[in-house]
Amino acid sequence: MKRFVKTSMLIGSMVVLSACKPIDWVEKEWNAAFNDSEKNHQAEEEKHGTEKKDQNKHADQAETPSENDNKEEPAQKNLPWLKDTVQASSDGKSIVQNPDDLLVVANKERNLPGDYVPKDLVTPNVPFPFKEDLPKKKMRKEAASALEELFKGAEDQGLELLAQSGYRSYKTQVSIFTYNANQRGKEKANQVSAQPGQSEHQTGLSMDVTSPKVNYGLEEKFGETPEGKWLAENGYKYGFIIRYLKGKEKITGYSYEPWHLRYVGKEHAKKIHEQGITLEEYLNKK
Ligand SMILES: [Zn+2]
Repeated sequence: MKRFVKTSMLIGSMVVLSACKPIDWVEKEWNAAFNDSEKNHQAEEEKHGTEKKDQNKHADQAETPSENDNKEEPAQKNLPWLKDTVQASSDGKSIVQNPDDLLVVANKERNLPGDYVPKDLVTPNVPFPFKEDLPKKKMRKEAASALEELFKGAEDQGLELLAQSGYRSYKTQVSIFTYNANQRGKEKANQVSAQPGQSEHQTGLSMDVTSPKVNYGLEEKFGETPEGKWLAENGYKYGFIIRYLKGKEKITGYSYEPWHLRYVGKEHAKKIHEQGITLEEYLNKK
């Protein structure tokens, strides 16, 4: 049976944003405006500002079902299927019911609870391009250990990876969104920043990684560097997937992000990688 995802079932938004790429002006103005605010809060000023991108850029490649789909059925009996893991809130939003699940899906149609904070956040022992002990260094414990292994694997190949941004709290996302709304109006804020609860970084299972070859930035050309290529080919061996794939923008709701790693565990990462699909497709049962 094909588990082919109808895009309209997943992402209603017509705007495809980057899930994590900061915008310079927001970064600067944010730092200026919030310089005196509380330490932790200010520290995570991970800007979710992003430019609007052409959602049809990779339309020709979208949604090609894999030949391997049939072989995957038996092992997938007890997965947390998308439709079974949300409930409507009083204001009509779909709230994710399994935020602690390693296979949790948060996107523009699936909101994490506002009070959800992972209980086992730790700082992985990997290089970062900054020295401060910021909350965005953190991941959930299992993901952090796996990231350390992945970094060792990359190092063994002579590659240089750095971790740029992991956990981001709901509260931080509220502040970023409010700041953007005050500066540019709510409509524009909607286009340049993720809504609170819709950032996968809140799960503690994501890490944006970079390398000196892209000047420690989070940009698409990272995917063409030896580090980016190695991640795409080998990340699954450590339990990670590239969460926002090229050609899958209509399904994930986000543009291609070769730097955004998502931990799902080795078993699932392997299956997702082999099928060349997104987490949404993997968990979409007809
Ligand atoms: Zn990210």
